[in-house]
Amino acid sequence: MIPFLDLKNINQQYREQLIEVCTRVIDSGWYIGGRELEKFEQNFATFCGTQYAIGVANGLDALILTLRAWKELGKLQDGDEVIVPSNTYIASILAISANQLKPVLVEPDSNTFNLDPKKIEAAITDKTKVILPVHLYGQLAAMPEIMDIAKKYDLLVLEDSAQSHAAEIQGKKAGNWGDASGFSFYPGKNLGALGDAGAITTNDTELANMLKALRNYGSHEKYKNLVQGVNSRLDEMQAAMLDIKLKFLDAETQHRRKIANLYLTGINNPFIALPLNNIKAEEYKQHVWHLFVIRTEHRGALQAYLLENGIQTLIHYPIPPHKQQAYKEWNDLSYPISEQIHTEVMSLPIGPTLSLQDAEHVIRLCNNFKV
Ligand SMILES: *Cc1c(COP(=O)(O)O)cnc(C)c1O
Repeated sequence: MIPFLDLKNINQQYREQLIEVCTRVIDSGWYIGGRELEKFEQNFATFCGTQYAIGVANGLDALILTLRAWKELGKLQDGDEVIVPSNTYIASILAISANQLKPVLVEPDSNTFNLDPKKIEAAITDKTKVILPVHLYGQLAAMPEIMDIAKKYDLLVLEDSAQSHAAEIQGKKAGNWGDASGFSFYPGKNLGALGDAGAITTNDTELANMLKALRNYGSHEKYKNLVQGVNSRLDEMQAAMLDIKLKFLDAETQHRRKIANLYLTGINNPFIALPLNNIKAEEYKQHVWHLFVIRTEHRGALQAYLLENGIQTLIHYPIPPHKQQAYKEWNDLSYPISEQIHTEVMSLPIGPTLSLQDAEHVIRLCNNFKV
């Protein structure tokens, strides 16, 4: 069996070092808001090229709290509109609704699966205040174009970088393009904790200070509450383990790229459309391949055939946000590009410990698939 992602194997690689830092935390007697968090925040900010990284409990909170901080700072108010891709994972949209802001769905480019910059301007109104691009599957959205639009209309940009640690365009990393960026360290992400964790990166001192208060009951100083905050902290144990795993992120990313290149050059079944069809290698070489997503009109059959042959695949994602029961008011709207993507996409196994032989086996089976 080739699993979709072998988390146990991934963490076994660093077992000794993880045990060592966990022991250090256990023996320190200090479990929340200490040196481990500070060190990881510093190292992660340096890695992304930003001035600040602020650890929080998970990726959803990273997005929710950033929008919330902008409200506290007077930059946003209830009912303001946030432009977000219509094919994103639901968390990007929940973060907007949770703040009494209005998600405005914009269709992706069907080649990149990312927000189509050509469609953004038509969605801008007097109430638009934020663009929330999602670097889906590990590829940066068209950030140079998006930042130009944001500048022209004086909009804030919040990147959803939950799937794109270390991805870059023009030498500038995910997390360092917008005014702020939310990261998730959910175990299955490219930089994964052994539990829940997240962070916000930014170069804005005022925002960083507000986020540090918001994640901790709205308090900078014990028992003094500036704002009505929440409890969303990244604990010492997870921070210490993340700091170990961060050291290996570049090597793991290189391995993902190796697998992706094998797939891109090896799979040649006419029933399977490879990602980034028609896109120049130059433009996607900094893709970090959180997921390797193919498209096929025969998804059910292909998935069943691969499973019969011992290969686990997943679908990211089967139902578009506007068809979810959670957003009943959108169920009758039509986003045809997203709808087509959601019926055709399928993710092949990819990860830092998938062997090249296993990838070759996946390629052979894909090429032998017949309708
Ligand atoms: C995983 C993910 C999130 C949420 O992260 P959690 O840590 O699970 O809360 C947000 N956005 C995207 C695109 C994600 O993939």
